[in-house]
Amino acid sequence: MKIYNTLTKRLEEFIPINEGKITMYVCGPTVYNLIHIGNARPMIVFDTFRRYMTYRGYEVNYVSNFTDVDDKIINAANEEGVEASEISERYIEECRKDMKGLNVLPATTHPQATKEIPEMIDMISTLEQKGYAYKVSDGTVYYRTRRFEGYGKLSGKNIDELESGHRSEGHALKVSGTEGKEDDFDFVLWKPKKEGEPYWESPWCEGRPGWHIECSCMAKKYLGDTIDIHAGGEDLIFPHHENEIAQSEAANGVPFAHYWMHNGFLNIDNQKMSKSLGNFFTVRDIAAKYDLQVLRFFMLSAQYRSPLNFSDQLMESAKAGLDRIKNAVSNLSDMEKNGMDGDMTDAELENIKRAEAEQERFNEVMDNDLNTADGISVIFDLVKFANTTTSNGATKAYAKALKDEMLKLGDVMGLILETKEETLDEDIERLIEERQQARKDKNFARADEIRDELLAKGIQLKDTREGVKWSRI
Ligand code: AMP
Ligand code: ZN
Repeated sequence: MKIYNTLTKRLEEFIPINEGKITMYVCGPTVYNLIHIGNARPMIVFDTFRRYMTYRGYEVNYVSNFTDVDDKIINAANEEGVEASEISERYIEECRKDMKGLNVLPATTHPQATKEIPEMIDMISTLEQKGYAYKVSDGTVYYRTRRFEGYGKLSGKNIDELESGHRSEGHALKVSGTEGKEDDFDFVLWKPKKEGEPYWESPWCEGRPGWHIECSCMAKKYLGDTIDIHAGGEDLIFPHHENEIAQSEAANGVPFAHYWMHNGFLNIDNQKMSKSLGNFFTVRDIAAKYDLQVLRFFMLSAQYRSPLNFSDQLMESAKAGLDRIKNAVSNLSDMEKNGMDGDMTDAELENIKRAEAEQERFNEVMDNDLNTADGISVIFDLVKFANTTTSNGATKAYAKALKDEMLKLGDVMGLILETKEETLDEDIERLIEERQQARKDKNFARADEIRDELLAKGIQLKDTREGVKWSRI
């Protein structure tokens, strides 16, 4: 597997710390309202990475947090006149529902910031002891950024360059709570409570943690001091991930993450989709119009690092593409029931080898930094292959083998390609059987009568080469 590593800015062969195992941390959403489809992109692509690596035989320990203490949550709580925890718990639940719809597997662990406060206090204390953190008069604790030699190694930013940019943008910080702050680049580890805000006791003041410390602590607690992969959207590279590295490496004294993976933005009209710009759709908005599998398929139609533009037209074409694959699976399913009995023919045995070779090709393209766009092309090739090699009928065994192959690749993508078969009431089943018998007996009058009777019950029959099919009308 080759992964583009933001840290080294190269495509690198993936070598895990422990053979056959992967420790992976993905920054999760801040839960103050429903997630938008931009937030869904990292969930979908890194879930696909996890699924793919699992299919390749790795055991993946996958941790993704919910940021449940933050200004936005507090503001939402104040607006509604409820506790901050009520807002965060509500939107964690809603987020889990969206994940389920998107077929994103629950993480091995979903830690929440508010439940890890002692760990954060510990890490900040360690940083303080090592001279990387200091407290100012109002109780705020800052990270001493310049003291960390590697600062800027992930984002490629250099503090002095940043400084000139910073100053010229007029960001010179002389706002409240910065009294005693040594440097503009120092960032908050702990801040004092304000009236009406949730707070915890600490050695510095009653207050709450900064955002960055949360991920450093949770990664350490659930995965260890050095992890294989850290991931998130590319907007997190700076400052969030840069600051995480500074905190973790200064506190733990070892490298934090070997590989850093970042997904590109989901854009709309070529602008980043975001809550603050107001140009967003929630996952729920999309669910009202499409099966969420279509959204997942749409997201995977691009390699995860490319920007992806959202439009109705592209969603429609994703829907058509997914339907094409699902139809092929459904046809194979019918053939599995109604095809020829017995062993595969010699030609079919040859064809199955070719289908397996497609799986090899699938692995190759996915090994190339998770190129799901190419992975989907391989699935389409398999659809074409299935359609042509079964157009003159097939054995049940061949249909099953091909179908299993497609379902396996679909599963790696997290796509549900087979709709669970709906069962019919017994009396309807009986009528269908009776009609089949009537047709065999050439009693067409009775057969037509039953067809009309079923139609009146909302069941439409279609006689196909593979046998009789029904659908609801
Ligand atoms: P947030 O709730 O803003 O912290 O975002 C949660 C995750 O969604 C982070 O990994 C972000 O990088 C990611 N994200 C937010 N907006 C977008 C977008 N428009 N496209 C892709 N990823 C995004
Ligand atoms: Zn994070």
